[in-house]
Amino acid sequence: MAFCTAIVGINWGDEGKGRMVDLLTENFDIVVRFQGGGNAGHTVINKYGEFLLHLLPAGIFRPGVMNVLGNGVALDPESLTKEIRDLESKGVEISSDNLMISDRASLLLPWHRKLDELEEARLKEKKFGSTKQGIAPFYSDKYQKKTVLAGELFYPQKMKAHLLDLMEWKNLILTKVYDADPVTEAELDQWIDEWCKPIMPYIGNARRYLREAQRNEERILFEAQLGTLRDLDYGIYPYTTSSNTLAAYAPIGSGLPGAKIDRIIGVVKAYSTCLGEGPFVCESHGDEAEWLRKAGNEYDDKTGKPRRVGPIDLVATRYGVKVQAVTEVALTKLDVLSDLDEIPICVRYRLNGQELDYLPFPSVLDECEPVIETMKGWKCDISGIRDWWDLPEEAKAYVNRIERAVGCVIKWISVGPERHSIIQRG
Ligand code: GDP
Repeated sequence: MAFCTAIVGINWGDEGKGRMVDLLTENFDIVVRFQGGGNAGHTVINKYGEFLLHLLPAGIFRPGVMNVLGNGVALDPESLTKEIRDLESKGVEISSDNLMISDRASLLLPWHRKLDELEEARLKEKKFGSTKQGIAPFYSDKYQKKTVLAGELFYPQKMKAHLLDLMEWKNLILTKVYDADPVTEAELDQWIDEWCKPIMPYIGNARRYLREAQRNEERILFEAQLGTLRDLDYGIYPYTTSSNTLAAYAPIGSGLPGAKIDRIIGVVKAYSTCLGEGPFVCESHGDEAEWLRKAGNEYDDKTGKPRRVGPIDLVATRYGVKVQAVTEVALTKLDVLSDLDEIPICVRYRLNGQELDYLPFPSVLDECEPVIETMKGWKCDISGIRDWWDLPEEAKAYVNRIERAVGCVIKWISVGPERHSIIQRG
């Protein structure tokens, strides 16, 4: 019996983790987000409608499931309060019975988003492609010990003094480095009243709660944001996010530092996408890219910005499987490739005349070219198929080819965005 399971991305993010969490929460008691923040965009389609979740774990739609925002999350009170209100207005019930925020989660403060925007503007064409949600300034401040914990909200006087100290320092940076307006004490007060107070009923001791749940053998699902290639330590630095997207970080970022994760489900699309800057070796251009982008609706859920697209990258995906220690793969969006006569696959990279089957050091990635092989397409609608044996031979061959290359069983094949548009193997 597996008590701890993680669902993680094994590419650049947007792999379809949200739909997998939504599907699998049926078998879990608790869903935990352990890193990242409001820059996440997990799309979930279910009986309540279509939702884009930013901070709330995707278990929020399942009655009886507890959703935890762990200490590793960038807790943005404004984004969270808005998200809770939006879901409630669509009939989803949210209370302290199904949502808990760790009192050790650090708060994303009013200046973080502002600093993110100012720094991207300063960088001009050298920008990182930030989602401008304040995530990088937040995490740098967290590690500088210059933000506040959610639990401090219960000690208003001490928290206010702490915030004013931080504000004094941040205003020096805003005004003297970026020549921007300072944040005022009145703005801070308003931020506390408008956005922080509404989340207070959910704040609690998540460590104690999760330890107790573990003792009672409750089943815990860890939900990651973004993918391996965006991991701060193992991704394509510096084109990473500012947190760890790996399953290995889930115990630390959730409040169960000693937990062992029994199952790690690595999610990857049947082709590659990348939002933002940085090396993306298998990138397609021109009509081919435009077709795939449209077929897969590859536009950022938050900003509408087109995602970069390309064939599945077996080098990057194998790396993702290894680094995440994936025990089973979920391959999503196979249906998107159904119209293609031939399906390209990036099997290796070419660097200085040599072919590589491993991900080289980030500094040389922009010199790599993809080595492309093609496979025959299946040319029919597969979105209604629910049994592996009903898939066309060409589709099975495609899945098997990926499975062999990444060295891990592909247990799930998603053929549509809806909850049950899925083929489970074995
Ligand atoms: P996440 O951030 O990893 O959760 O990924 P996204 O929320 O960006 O999900 C990818 C998008 O693809 C969403 O709009 C999903 O509804 C959609 N999607 C997920 N799986 C499938 C699938 O198998 N087929 C199709 N056509 N769409 C899918």
